Amino acid sequence: MRIGVDLGGTKIEVAALDRGGAAVARHRVLTPGRDYPATVATIRDLVLALETELGESCTVGIAMPGAISPATGLVKNANSTCLIGHPFDRDIAAALAREVRVANDADCFALSEAVDGAAAGARSVFGVILGTGVGGGIVVSGRLLAGVNAIAGEWGHNPLPWPADAERPGPLCYCGKFGCIESFLSGPALAADHQRVTGSRQTAEEVGHAAAAGDAPAAASLARYADRLARGLASVVNIIDPEVIVLGGGLSSIASLYRDVPALWGRYIFSDHVATRLVPPRHGDSSGVRGAAWLWPEPAA
Ligand SMILES: [Zn+2]
Repeated sequence: MRIGVDLGGTKIEVAALDRGGAAVARHRVLTPGRDYPATVATIRDLVLALETELGESCTVGIAMPGAISPATGLVKNANSTCLIGHPFDRDIAAALAREVRVANDADCFALSEAVDGAAAGARSVFGVILGTGVGGGIVVSGRLLAGVNAIAGEWGHNPLPWPADAERPGPLCYCGKFGCIESFLSGPALAADHQRVTGSRQTAEEVGHAAAAGDAPAAASLARYADRLARGLASVVNIIDPEVIVLGGGLSSIASLYRDVPALWGRYIFSDHVATRLVPPRHGDSSGVRGAAWLWPEPAA
């Protein structure tokens, strides 16, 4: 069987998938706070306990924030954990005494939805996380595009395309630049935009619910959001032209996006007709562990 591990800032989830992709066991614990050795030891213990429970040795894949830098072999771009600067893939492989495959969590989301989720059967897939942050991953013919710098699909720190004057220079992003896509399209960004215009303090999900219930200011905030998302995705379509774009993360539950964004993106995509489909996720929160498990696509020995 395949074991997938989803290493998040607050929790670590582990699950085993059988050959058909059904989850046969899953467990979840709190992530040890800012303690790298304890994080590695917790993952090791979870995997070994699961193998004891299953009575067999499994392949192990791990979804993590950030990526292993091909230049240094150390973790980079992980903004919420203690992993940065450590050779996480080598440390976990040593702890488990086997090869372990490690990938970015947005990449695992994209892989999960491409293998047997909302984009199953599509040859090219862009998976998007719209949550606390904004990430992305690209899957072609069932395989992740890793990229020579291990940043393929990382569109969140590109600038928001076709900005209006009022969107320049845009909010200051934690990465040090102004106007990043993430600083317009993350959940906190939608909440901040709504508060700037209305003075009302609501979470992104609350804005989504209020808009669906007919609240005009919330609907206006969501309309601004949908247009920004349409522009952000149009620039991706213009480069990789995927068959399917799957949304994930907390904002993927806003149903109107799947109607409104494709109605808008034709203005920005350089094509007479846009066949790309924008779809909600099938596996949702489970995509971290599922995509991590599918980092071993070949049948288990
Ligand atoms: Zn940024």
